[in-house]
Amino acid sequence: MQDALYAAVVLSMVVVVIVRLDRARVDPRAGTWATLVAGWVLTGCTLGGLVLVASPLPARVPLVAALGDWRPDSIGFESPIPLAASALAMLLLAWSGWRTVNELRVLLADRRELDGTHRAIRRANHASVVVLDEEVPNAYALAGTIRHRGRIVMTAGLLGLLDDEERAAALAHERAHLRHHHALFEIAGRLMVACNPLLITLNRDLGFLLERWADEESTLETSTPVVASALSKAALATSPTARQRLARCALGWASRGDVTTRVRALLDHDGRRRRRAIWALGFVAVLTAAALAWAMHDTERFFEAARLWTR
Ligand SMILES: [Zn+2]
Repeated sequence: MQDALYAAVVLSMVVVVIVRLDRARVDPRAGTWATLVAGWVLTGCTLGGLVLVASPLPARVPLVAALGDWRPDSIGFESPIPLAASALAMLLLAWSGWRTVNELRVLLADRRELDGTHRAIRRANHASVVVLDEEVPNAYALAGTIRHRGRIVMTAGLLGLLDDEERAAALAHERAHLRHHHALFEIAGRLMVACNPLLITLNRDLGFLLERWADEESTLETSTPVVASALSKAALATSPTARQRLARCALGWASRGDVTTRVRALLDHDGRRRRRAIWALGFVAVLTAAALAWAMHDTERFFEAARLWTR
């Protein structure tokens, strides 16, 4: 019964390592999808494993036992899981639920703030690209909401720093974030980590992959050397303190996702390893789901035995 939980915990670590090692080499679009799918499968299996480990505890409650048609004390004799382990699993499930509700509240507050920003911009003008009179070079995408379409914000500092082609590259990058709804991928990643804190580093790597995805899209509208040059210029012109502050911007341009690694990944033309991590993540996801299915079968047999023991 507890095997699915062990498998999910160990394989979560495997996924974290695979994504960290290959995030700069993998195809960013496929890598983003594979990371999210594998992450959510692992999250589901971890929570499912916790439910299985916790299950003997509520099964001792007389009402649940009457519904399941077994005697409460038969669970105590037959269960392979110690009472303390079941209680711990219940506590972990409650903690995960609390974290998820909390993250949902933060996400709703973020959405309200985003709506407020869109309203303020719309009052000033209706442009889809807004220029802020700020010295620090930066650009970011303001995701669309139900009432407002997405917008791109650029600072005067960035426009002054880049030439025409490089400005087009920065714009293409932000447009790619909006076109492919990267804000929704971020939300899915945040909720995943709230449910399953074992995957906490995946959020940062997901941010990196989304930046790489937008970088590669922008090379299609300009060219790789132009995108690399624009990114390098903006990163060099931004102090580390300002970069830290800018990293909190939604889908910020040259402030997120380790710019040096992004530039190196853009210039790396070795395409051989671009699919390796995807296959590895898919394999891990299937393995974890199989472990959960096996553990569910085990649990079913345990409760069946409890019913027979009662008769
Ligand atoms: Zn970006």
